[in-house]
Amino acid sequence: MQEASESFVNGVDWSNSAEPTSHCWFHYSCETSSTSRLCACILCKNRKSTSDLPLIQCATCLLIVHATHLSELEESTTNNHHKIPPCRPSFVDNNIADNVDMHDQHYWSHVSTLSTPCTYCKRKSSDGLVCMWCSRSYHRQCWENIKDNEENSKCDYGKFSNIIVRPQWLRRVDDSPFGFRAQMPAYVEINDTSLTPVIFFINKLSGGQKGQEIYRMLVRILNPRQVFFLENDSTITRALNIYASLTNTRICICGGDGTVGWVLSHLVDT
Ligand SMILES: [Zn+2]
Ligand SMILES: [Zn+2]
Ligand SMILES: [Zn+2]
Ligand SMILES: [Zn+2]
Repeated sequence: MQEASESFVNGVDWSNSAEPTSHCWFHYSCETSSTSRLCACILCKNRKSTSDLPLIQCATCLLIVHATHLSELEESTTNNHHKIPPCRPSFVDNNIADNVDMHDQHYWSHVSTLSTPCTYCKRKSSDGLVCMWCSRSYHRQCWENIKDNEENSKCDYGKFSNIIVRPQWLRRVDDSPFGFRAQMPAYVEINDTSLTPVIFFINKLSGGQKGQEIYRMLVRILNPRQVFFLENDSTITRALNIYASLTNTRICICGGDGTVGWVLSHLVDT
């Protein structure tokens, strides 16, 4: 069982087949989640069963599905869109016209318990919806009251807004061997220092399991594409090249002195 799910845990997908709303799958573990243990795949025949089919969870939107559905969908020849609800978008495709109205949307996810008081009625407990970007939370009924309100339709990215890479800043491009390029839109002033996006490099091997924990936490609260597991030289080269053109970018390295030196040596070359 364990092995079957192992092969589907793929983290952030930087391949050509990545989609803006691709999920970022990890093994599900009860401790890392406040969502209900229900499979979200509409093809599922065992949704509520507590069978020991392995579950995987998206570290970015907290959605849970049985690992087996990913291979089923891969093998099936029919249109698989929306068999699993989409993740929050992490980049935009270059061939899609830039529609400013579509930027900065809240991304609502169901949770079994609100961990912070409801933004509307200020009460805690019971289930509800949380925006995965700004962390605002609402009871379902309270959310029904605000969801059509035009004023509430734009997300401000909450307390990490100064360091979050907005999905619309990261584009898939054809003219770079790295496939993606990050750039601030023209309307952001070059000398506007209120936006200082941070790229994270995390050494998997530093501090026991801490590296993995930090990675999952950052992928959850930021744009998953600004967080990199240090695997090899090409991971660093790719990340630095993609983000070299993003104004005011800072780099944060989680690891020992050796890790810092490793990234810095590539920074000199880029
Ligand atoms: Zn299922
Ligand atoms: Zn997701
Ligand atoms: Zn939001
Ligand atoms: Zn409420």
